[in-house]
Amino acid sequence: MNIHILPTGFGLSFLLEYPHGLYLIDTGHPGQQGAVLEKMRALGRSDLRLIWITHAHYDHYGSAAALRRLTGAPIGVHPADAPHLAAGRSPLGTARRHGWVFRLVMPLLNRLWPLPPAAPDFTRGDGETLAEFGLQAAVLHTPGHTPGHTCLLLDGAVAFAADLISRAPARLQDLLATGWEQLPGSLARLQAARPEWVYTGHSRRPLAGSELQSLAPRPGR
Ligand SMILES: [Zn+2]
Ligand SMILES: [Zn+2]
Repeated sequence: MNIHILPTGFGLSFLLEYPHGLYLIDTGHPGQQGAVLEKMRALGRSDLRLIWITHAHYDHYGSAAALRRLTGAPIGVHPADAPHLAAGRSPLGTARRHGWVFRLVMPLLNRLWPLPPAAPDFTRGDGETLAEFGLQAAVLHTPGHTPGHTCLLLDGAVAFAADLISRAPARLQDLLATGWEQLPGSLARLQAARPEWVYTGHSRRPLAGSELQSLAPRPGR
């Protein structure tokens, strides 16, 4: 399996390449479908089997509707974020540290490049898998950043933690949350899964499992 990291606006998308199909984790902000399609063309593949959205934020599902239209791949998300996708909302919650910058910029971005609604085709909750689509991945519900934020755990070894973890330096999300009190439990949930590598939503460099285990359980500490 190859993991292709695609810059899609100010976030990242992850295209998983298996012999039996391609799987996309997150889609970047609106208008970024070309980056994914270009990569698929370069690989000589058109068999995108699934678009998994880690959480209902502008920079993670902005191109989901366009990619579904262009590839036919279904969109999946946790049930708690499904209504936000369906309504084209990006719930930011409250800000800490410089999280206020995103709160300030988001309405402007939304006016320039509106966030297309992307009603999901299916949902998966905590402990459920994507095996039905041929992907050996378990869903970990890790709320706090948004109500339905999830991490995906591939083959029990590689985690995609999206915005549960902020980077440079690696730390528990400390900028935006709809439920700050949920974040420590969500981190503990991911740590308990003991992944060997952890990819996050805005950094190309994965964290080693030992780095994940060393993260402090409270945001901002
Ligand atoms: Zn986010
Ligand atoms: Zn993000």
